[in-house]
Amino acid sequence: MTSTLVVIGHGMVGHRLADRLRELDTGHRWRVCVLGEEREPAYDRVRLSTYLKSRSRAGLSLVRPEFLADPRITVRSAAPVVSVDRRARTVRTADGEPITYDALVLATGSRPFVPPVEGRDLGNCFVQRTVEDIDALSAAARPGRPAVVIGGGLLGLEAAQGLQLLGMRPHLVESAPHLMPAQLDMVAAHVLQDGAERLGLHLHCGTTVASVNGGTDGLVRSVTLGNGSVIDADLVVFAAGVRPRDDLSVTPALPLAERGGYLTDAFCRTRDDRVWAVGECAAVQGRSRGLVAPGYRMAENVARQLTGHAGEPLDDMDDSTELKLLGVHVATFGHTKGDTATAVEVTFQEGVSRYAKIFLHRDSGALLGGILAGETVSRGDLATWVGKRPTADLESVLFPAPSF
Ligand SMILES: Cc1cc2nc3c(=O)[nH]c(=O)nc-3n(C[C@H](O)[C@H](O)[C@H](O)COP(=O)(O)OP(=O)(O)OC[C@H]3O[C@@H](n4cnc5c(N)ncnc54)[C@H](O)[C@@H]3O)c2cc1C
Repeated sequence: MTSTLVVIGHGMVGHRLADRLRELDTGHRWRVCVLGEEREPAYDRVRLSTYLKSRSRAGLSLVRPEFLADPRITVRSAAPVVSVDRRARTVRTADGEPITYDALVLATGSRPFVPPVEGRDLGNCFVQRTVEDIDALSAAARPGRPAVVIGGGLLGLEAAQGLQLLGMRPHLVESAPHLMPAQLDMVAAHVLQDGAERLGLHLHCGTTVASVNGGTDGLVRSVTLGNGSVIDADLVVFAAGVRPRDDLSVTPALPLAERGGYLTDAFCRTRDDRVWAVGECAAVQGRSRGLVAPGYRMAENVARQLTGHAGEPLDDMDDSTELKLLGVHVATFGHTKGDTATAVEVTFQEGVSRYAKIFLHRDSGALLGGILAGETVSRGDLATWVGKRPTADLESVLFPAPSF
């Protein structure tokens, strides 16, 4: 007898789960119904910035023809789910249709966080989460004019470079003392900042945005910073982080984590043994993540559970990051905070051109993780060393001679 799995959200992780389930379900036990709010079936959100240039939605798609052609799979786009009734085991879409499930996966992702700044609702204030957001931003861009990005993390830097691609002159405001405060230390950030400024970004770190100011037409004209300075701007992009989308009407309600996200155990199981949460909307063991790699691990894990395969608890998920685009190499991998009881920290630096901070296991000397900035070895090339004691001279591994 076949059972019905309903997946709410056809984003990167919801799609991965449905696709993996299709591959693993050799006994054809499941019918899968994927309900997506967006007009597009799943696409590669990580490469959204490339869409600024290519404008090819097809080029971003994650959905292969054989997926859609599979009779076990139903995908409904532009079909937002508005409620879940756990007792009746139904979900209801905006057009009112109830769909019954045997298993339910919540894969609703995140939404951009827009801080409560005066003027944030003015025309020409944007976020970057969907292809529609990029279309709207591109339509408003004015080459040669200044723009402000609020938030100096990975997404803010990507947004600033996107504005450059559109011919605008981007300023970037970060309230922390340096860029990418969640990932980098001060020295790595200086390598990044030096590179970013050479590429034409105007950086304002260590200050907040006091207000976004508009003209009589209701459009952005300038931004006032907490330090009192005023930046002319035709456009503002908020890139101040994301918040898990955990506000679906679920009856009875499911527990949420303290900092948001559907609370799950190490197997992505919510309190309801028929309901899982994966991707950015999930707080696995209380912690949500804003990266795709952990989301894909969750998808794999749940697909395996549903098809009777053994799964490992998701105790140690990879938070490695790498700045794309920009032309300045910055990456983190493995453990980067360094618990001094178990780790020894070693740093290497050559001016502002390259920097590496590496954590080695205090007893075994094994490489635990680190931060790379500038002309260093790539994160990928170093991956083979993680968990092993580096045999070669570390500096020559981290700072390879430039190839001509
Ligand atoms: C510009 C940008 C660059 C990024 N770069 C990187 C990067 O370099 N590296 C990295 O690891 N990650 C990056 N990310 C993050 C990465 O895209 C996410 O981690 C990933 O998309 C998470 O997948 P998800 O399926 O959980 O959420 P999403 O991909 O957001 O998918 C969730 C889907 O659920 C839908 N949905 C929500 N509520 C409902 C509902 N009620 N009914 C139906 N559908 C619903 C949403 O509309 C959305 O389509 C980037 C994100 C952005 C925006």
